[in-house]
Amino acid sequence: MDVARYYPAGPATKAAYRLDREDDMDIGRGRRGIIVLAAFAAAACASSGVNKGDFNLVSYQEEWQLGAQLEQDIARQMPLVRDATLVNYVSRIGQRIVSQTELAQAPWEFHVVSDNQVNAFNIPGGHVYVNTGLICANDNVAELAGVMAHEISHGVSRHATEQLSKAYGANILVGLALGANPPIYQQLLAQIIAGGTFARFSRDAENESDRLGVLYMYNAGYDPVGMVTMFQELISRRKSRPSSVENFFSSHPITEDRIEEVRIQIQQLPPKPNLILRDGEFENMQRRVGC
Ligand SMILES: [Zn+2]
Repeated sequence: MDVARYYPAGPATKAAYRLDREDDMDIGRGRRGIIVLAAFAAAACASSGVNKGDFNLVSYQEEWQLGAQLEQDIARQMPLVRDATLVNYVSRIGQRIVSQTELAQAPWEFHVVSDNQVNAFNIPGGHVYVNTGLICANDNVAELAGVMAHEISHGVSRHATEQLSKAYGANILVGLALGANPPIYQQLLAQIIAGGTFARFSRDAENESDRLGVLYMYNAGYDPVGMVTMFQELISRRKSRPSSVENFFSSHPITEDRIEEVRIQIQQLPPKPNLILRDGEFENMQRRVGC
């Protein structure tokens, strides 16, 4: 496995993580999770205000274990794209954005779902899924990066496990008891498989993900205007072809107000030369998808 791919920014603990990752081949996910998560959870708390004071009963370690199990079950039940060139392209965009976040040291993974619906979603534990329908609906890489930055921000902010904590309280850890086939886990999985969605996020969670997403993509070098034009595209598709964006809107209600707030935030960012709108590869990827 190409471990360097996960760490484009080269954080301080990269070397330590790489050892754990190699270890993982022999000793399984459990120990790797404990060592790695202890390191990045500490970094995440120290570096910013993200997640400070938010109610969450699920530890980083439990969240990443949950994500690993969901990933396996999703891979069995959703039509994932196996084209390594395409998946690597999407992963490179994702890792470039992740490198600017508070969870840069965590093992994130990016997946492409063969589905014409315009959708993307985040599940706990650093997994982001992008539908082929989204890639086809984007005009340029900045639009794809905009949606991905928004999903990554849900993950960094831990909105999914916060919502589970609020919904199930102290029962959540029993309800997710991994490997025991508990009902809460099965319900979550079924929801993801059926709808390409984890949850309906609150307006606050959406605003936080927009705000962080703009910053992360801008810091990663992508033109944040891509987020605005993609949101506009989603709204216009909702009018012309509502079924094609139904799942996206069910988990992330986009409104003109939200777009306006993003636009205002972008205007306040310092000018930055060479922000990426087009990258010379994106159209080739659309051809690979067969858009
Ligand atoms: Zn959202």
